[in-house]
Amino acid sequence: MRILVTGGAGFIGSALVRYLVNEVGAEVLTFDKLTYAGNLASLKCVEPSANHRFVRADICDARAVTSALEAFQPDRIYHLAAESHVDRSIDGAADFITTNIVGTYTLLDCARRYWLVLEAARKTAFRFLHVSTDEVYGSLGETGHFSEETPYDPSSPYSASKAASDHLVMAWHRTYGFPGLVSNCSNNYGPYHFPEKLIPLTILNALHGRPLPVYGTGSNIRDWLYVDDHARALHLIASRGRLGATYNVGGRNERRNIEAVKTICGVLDRLRPGPEPHDRLITYVTDRPGHDFRYAIDASRLEGELGWQARETFETGIEKTVTWYIENEWWWRPLREKVYAGERLGTTVDAA
Ligand code: NAD
Repeated sequence: MRILVTGGAGFIGSALVRYLVNEVGAEVLTFDKLTYAGNLASLKCVEPSANHRFVRADICDARAVTSALEAFQPDRIYHLAAESHVDRSIDGAADFITTNIVGTYTLLDCARRYWLVLEAARKTAFRFLHVSTDEVYGSLGETGHFSEETPYDPSSPYSASKAASDHLVMAWHRTYGFPGLVSNCSNNYGPYHFPEKLIPLTILNALHGRPLPVYGTGSNIRDWLYVDDHARALHLIASRGRLGATYNVGGRNERRNIEAVKTICGVLDRLRPGPEPHDRLITYVTDRPGHDFRYAIDASRLEGELGWQARETFETGIEKTVTWYIENEWWWRPLREKVYAGERLGTTVDAA
């Protein structure tokens, strides 16, 4: 099986590429622009494999997309390329509109033209999986879960751009019969996570004895999904999911942000004890504008129809993640020194 993965040098994309190459045995082409969030070091372990190739290109560039499709002849496309950080979308939405909306349109348009002229059996088997977020559903109160029927109600420029891209994929299915599916997942964490997001930022700041910023009161709730559980889910959805359907992916691991940060501190107190407990570094900072209060995924469709289950609880996944960051300084040190040192993003202070 030949699978083209867009955004395969990013956090989730690289976990998926490692899974497809090392465990599924698929032939994979990683198609990635290598923005600040893309990192070939995350693909180091598949570099020697004959099953993996890489092309540096932009999904907004129709010629580059078409030439990759024609040269590689994929049986599937797993689309993960995106601008993915809410705080950066608050500071400036242009790249989010361009990549997430125009880029997804460009990719869909090229993929449809490629698919249309495939020989009959390959045409029937072709799949396009669009990877999206539960943030398209907006925010929950203290109770309830997002199902695949929850109406879209995005809050941030990021989630609005992802919502638009989800609608494009569904429109391509309904209008052209294009074999697309959409997955909407909760917050991921795990190894190779760019250290701008809560969990890796907390781990690295704690390792350096720096303040651990917690937005607002820390009471916002996220439903954490270990990235390798997500990679398995994505391949399963593309392999056995219904065309034109949406599948929610979540680990049934809701935690308040403050609880997540304290769990990390507890693991570090054991694995890397400092002069004082790590939770003394917790610092409450101004909340994110438009900060959604709670996300929680009802993954029963994925569990019931396709038999997927998350293997990691938050506690087992965090133990693995913290251990990975302790052991893999070679991966994160260059990023902290040259790409992003942990400064606050997305406050709208300068937005006027
Ligand atoms: P990421 O920011 O770590 O990686 C994105 C990748 O896309 C990078 O390698 C980047 O170089 C590449 N890219 C960006 N613009 C591109 C372009 N124009 N052309 C080609 N490549 C481009 O993101 P991630 O966390 O791995 O997220 C992957 C997907 O999953 C995204 O679509 C995101 O919206 C979605 N998602 C992520 C989470 C999460 O918790 N991280 C949750 C829900 C959904």
